[in-house]
Amino acid sequence: MDFTLTDREREWVERGKALAKEFAPRAAVWDEESRYPTENHERLQELGLLGIALPTEFGGGGASLTECYLLVEEISKACANTALLVHDQNVSGRILATHGGPAHRETLERLAKGEIEVTIAMTEPEAGSALYEMTTNVRRDGDEWVINGGKTYNSFGDRAAAHLVYARFADTTGPDAIGMILVEADRPGVSFTMMPRKMGMHGVEEVNLRFDNVRVPAENVVIEGIEGSSAGFVRPLDIYNATRVGMGVMALGIAQGAMDYAIEHLRTRRQFGRFLGEFQGLQWMLADCAIQIEGARLLCYRALAEVDAGRTSAYHSACAKVAATEGAFKVVDDCLQLLGGAGYFSGAPLERMMRDVRMFKITGGTTQILKNTIGKALIGSLR
Ligand SMILES: Cc1cc2nc3c(=O)[nH]c(=O)nc-3n(C[C@H](O)[C@H](O)[C@H](O)COP(=O)(O)OP(=O)(O)OC[C@H]3O[C@@H](n4cnc5c(N)ncnc54)[C@H](O)[C@@H]3O)c2cc1C
Repeated sequence: MDFTLTDREREWVERGKALAKEFAPRAAVWDEESRYPTENHERLQELGLLGIALPTEFGGGGASLTECYLLVEEISKACANTALLVHDQNVSGRILATHGGPAHRETLERLAKGEIEVTIAMTEPEAGSALYEMTTNVRRDGDEWVINGGKTYNSFGDRAAAHLVYARFADTTGPDAIGMILVEADRPGVSFTMMPRKMGMHGVEEVNLRFDNVRVPAENVVIEGIEGSSAGFVRPLDIYNATRVGMGVMALGIAQGAMDYAIEHLRTRRQFGRFLGEFQGLQWMLADCAIQIEGARLLCYRALAEVDAGRTSAYHSACAKVAATEGAFKVVDDCLQLLGGAGYFSGAPLERMMRDVRMFKITGGTTQILKNTIGKALIGSLR
């Protein structure tokens, strides 16, 4: 067992650190003004980093998921909104690169260059955790497919050029015949409404999507849902298992950023004639934060190593995501406490981090649903 990063992985960490330094001063701006970090997008695009984990044959960077997430983790320490855009575009791209066909090549190449965004449209108002209950449907009509239905909580949906839409390819229930189809945002019948302002992560917007008799060419199908088979739903889940670790990694980055900030405070603020960092009670709080972070990081890196070795594990991905997101929330809360009043006011990084980190316990599979996954893996089949 070797816990050291490779030279290449260390290089990604260093690049991430440099970018985090660059992005830190304006992280509060995207939050306060609820503004997409366009300048950061452009910078990442200029550096060719928006498709870093996509295959080189499509113009991507050819980095492993571990390398990509090391970069994402570092950026999250300073600006989680920017980290999320790197993360999400690489996820959409990896789905298209793995499951798409020649007709998706142009979309993928533009995505890899950071010219466009492609969202994942999975959740529906009546099908959240119970994704199998989705009703959005696709029907064949000659050389075209016709899509009807609606999606919700669609991140980046206000900016996207296309959506990877999960839908039913037949009149079925459960996972049967669910598949995925690429729907360009400018097709007649595609519309969206903005969702209300959320608690944190203000640099990214979510939308409700509508598809009313939207026609797309047959080759837009990414994975066809086949009656009598759940393969269309299950196959890309492999990528989700892999990438939900990304949610953990971003939470981890925020937690590390919060701890770094708190350490600086403990080293400089004096009370009762001593530096706060001299009080053992506070050192112990800090030690508990470090233990949470170190443990979650090992779980995340282990899960990522399995992905890169082609052995994605639902169990290890779920363990990593739950440990990292739950642990990160606790760490950020404790770090805010270490700052006292200075942590609680708008404009203080800790106040923003507290709101940002909360999202990761919900997106990409909630803690409870992932614990169901872990529990089922442990108990096994009882019938
Ligand atoms: C900011 C944000 C961005 C998002 N971005 C996207 C996106 O880009 N694309 C997309 O498709 N989706 C997206 N989502 C949706 C996200 O994946 C869902 O919110 C999540 O899967 C939970 O679904 P729900 O909100 O409907 O909660 P519900 O399913 O209604 O669950 C409510 C609560 O009940 C618990 N629960 C439900 N069922 C069970 C059970 N069987 N056992 C135990 N507990 C249970 C849940 O854990 C949760 O605590 C986003 C969500 C948020 C908040």
